[in-house]
Amino acid sequence: MKAVIINKHGGLETLMFKDIPEPKCKPGKVKVNIESSSINHLDLWVRNGLSGINLPFPMVLGSDGAGTIVEIGSDVRDYKMGDQVVIQPGTFCGNCSFCKAGNENYCHQYGVLGETESGVQAEYIVVDPINIYAKANHLTFAESSSMQLVFMTAYQMLIKRANIQKNEIVLIYGGTSGVGSAAIQISCNIGAHVIATVGSRDKVEHAQKMGADNVLIHSYKNWQDDVKDIVGKRGVDIVFEHVGKATWEQSLSLLAKGGRIVTCGATTGQNVPLNLKHLFIKQHTIMGSTMSSLPTFKEVMEKIHNKVYSPFVDKIFKMEDIRKAHAYIEQSKHNGKVAMVFNF
Ligand SMILES: [Zn+2]
Repeated sequence: MKAVIINKHGGLETLMFKDIPEPKCKPGKVKVNIESSSINHLDLWVRNGLSGINLPFPMVLGSDGAGTIVEIGSDVRDYKMGDQVVIQPGTFCGNCSFCKAGNENYCHQYGVLGETESGVQAEYIVVDPINIYAKANHLTFAESSSMQLVFMTAYQMLIKRANIQKNEIVLIYGGTSGVGSAAIQISCNIGAHVIATVGSRDKVEHAQKMGADNVLIHSYKNWQDDVKDIVGKRGVDIVFEHVGKATWEQSLSLLAKGGRIVTCGATTGQNVPLNLKHLFIKQHTIMGSTMSSLPTFKEVMEKIHNKVYSPFVDKIFKMEDIRKAHAYIEQSKHNGKVAMVFNF
């Protein structure tokens, strides 16, 4: 079967579209013929090399996938051949106290397909049926494969961790990134006031389309003053962080008394300063968040089925054009998600 693999870390040239052995279905599992897989920034980090993570090469990339069940292992009751499904990208032991309590993303063995083990950018994958969910009929395969990781991440951050409330003001960095776009939709659905930042003027429209009330261009000098113009001295209630060192200090300075920062990433650096006196006087809360549990995955999928959250696919590439797709994202040309399909 064809798959997108890397044999070592590096640039676009390390991406290969080639034949690898097809996996065999096992008892209790299902075999899915992948139709589409979207690219997350994670794919680029995995390709470039993540510090502290040693990957098993060759590694199949891709965390988000959607496809059709082509084989059912014995003991599988809930699905049948031909069912169209999406795949949940989190992996976990299933036996520890966290997993048994439905907090799989706290499991010591928690990982992500395409990051800690081979992923979904292959014609076939064999998965446990607890990690699949029916594809929504109103969405294409490309759209269906574009939503899991970013909505699971943003939903966990805003709903489960920060407990965002109606009329709160939330600052969301990267309003055209996958996780930023999902965060805007989730916040708007709750009834929060969304201030989103984007990198350039041509990206403003996308963030507005996602529902942002105010869109600021963070490459402009003093854009923080615009935040203050919008919210006054009060500050914002929640900062949705995934940038890290480059934005950390301004995130804290823009935060209202009693405000929360919730973070899922450190793209620009992971060691940040913290003034403890400011932290306790302003009664700030700093929260970490990573992926989400299986119950949260199901909550997110129900909302996708009910059209509460919408896909935002910017461009679709053929799976064999994986290098072009990574280049497109690396050059920040995308407004929303990039999907890869086997049958263009
Ligand atoms: Zn576990």
